Amino acid sequence: MSQDPPRIVIAGAGHAGGSAAAFLRQYGWKGAIVLVGEEPNAPYQRPPLSKAWLKGEATAESLALRPARFYAQQTIELRLGTRVGALDRTARQVTLSDGAVLGYDRLILALGARPRALPLPGAELAGVKALRGIADADALQAALGPGRRLAVIGGGYIGLEVAASARALGAEAVVIEREARVLARVAGHTLSAFLAAQHWAHGVEILTDAQVAAIEGEAGAARAVLLADGRRIPCDAVLVGIGAVPNSELAEAAGLDCAGGIVVDLAARSSDPAIYAIGDCTHRPLPLYGRSGRLESVPNAIEQAKQAAADICGRPPPSPEVPWFWSDQFDLRLQMAGLAFAAHEVVVRGTPDAPGFAVFHLDAEHRVLAVEAVNAPADFMAGRLLVAKQARVPPATLRDTTQPLRGITI
Ligand code: FAD
Repeated sequence: MSQDPPRIVIAGAGHAGGSAAAFLRQYGWKGAIVLVGEEPNAPYQRPPLSKAWLKGEATAESLALRPARFYAQQTIELRLGTRVGALDRTARQVTLSDGAVLGYDRLILALGARPRALPLPGAELAGVKALRGIADADALQAALGPGRRLAVIGGGYIGLEVAASARALGAEAVVIEREARVLARVAGHTLSAFLAAQHWAHGVEILTDAQVAAIEGEAGAARAVLLADGRRIPCDAVLVGIGAVPNSELAEAAGLDCAGGIVVDLAARSSDPAIYAIGDCTHRPLPLYGRSGRLESVPNAIEQAKQAAADICGRPPPSPEVPWFWSDQFDLRLQMAGLAFAAHEVVVRGTPDAPGFAVFHLDAEHRVLAVEAVNAPADFMAGRLLVAKQARVPPATLRDTTQPLRGITI
């Protein structure tokens, strides 16, 4: 049944959900918007949680996606501390954890992802932490400081960022990575090696090819990480950073197509025409690469929020964006664009033993598939454009640091 006035319910008040509400108003949606979020906070940015917030360098205001007054000004109803518990597609309604039943004309699922749990003995001990929300970051910060030792399980971006922040807080940090190198899933060898060296230089110990067997406790609190080869890594706290799992159960239970994430098209439409899905909970097309997959990034959350809002408001779809991501560790700004599937050749511009270089991943025809830049924002911007254009560039041109990339003709 249609609502009067027409109503959009957004389930999940994170980066994607909060952005969708704002774009809907910007694109002219005049009906009701109800933003339902499980966390007690209005939409906020997660990236600083492992960086500036953890180091005590950010404020609640700087974390907020929009000022508190924005939602009242834009007539966006916030229902915080409330979970969407069930979805009835036939009746077009959702049931909330406070018992309320909300009808919708359009539903946007912006449910995010949650940290993957460590399925090992000791994972339940006090001091074993994961990082997704403000409360997690505050609990982690309380466990860090001079004289404390943090063991980070997982050498992905979040693990490395937390290790860097732990050092800034005066704690010792050791990163335990199962693969042969850090960032094995998301970065090329050159960047992995550079970052590992930077971490060592800042006092972070990095253990690779290291399989965790268990966490050992004393009086209910974590005291060491035990490795499969018998090594024992003493610690006072453990951060488990082994990836995220999409929150797609609500959609699965309602019979929407899911494939390790809610399956959507380039307008963020799910398999139900009245339901959209955006952000970390989706499995989306990657048109530049002729495949589909999950992206966990702020730019992706914003892009899909735009796609859904544009489709609902009858506007032309936004042009597809190149997937991109950033990370801050120590005094390094990392910026990555594109995905290096099927890379044939790697070209380094600059010197990777000093910050201020970029790595280009090319296919067999010298098409630029991806760029990874370290303290090299101009090369990143130019590289991102080359990826978007699927430009073919001779490796010698990319290597030549005497010529700015911005000006090259393709
Ligand atoms: P989220 O922001 O997770 O929001 C989903 C919300 O939905 C959550 O508040 C959740 O509680 C709520 N929810 C879930 N289920 C329900 C339900 N049933 N009912 C109601 N509410 C529900 N990305 C970058 O691009 N650069 C970075 O440097 C970077 N750093 C990061 C650092 C950390 C520590 C983390 C955790 C993430 C980082 N990311 C970074 C990733 C980025 O923050 C996410 O990709 C982005 O937040 C995704 O937005 P989202 O709205 O899909 O999910």
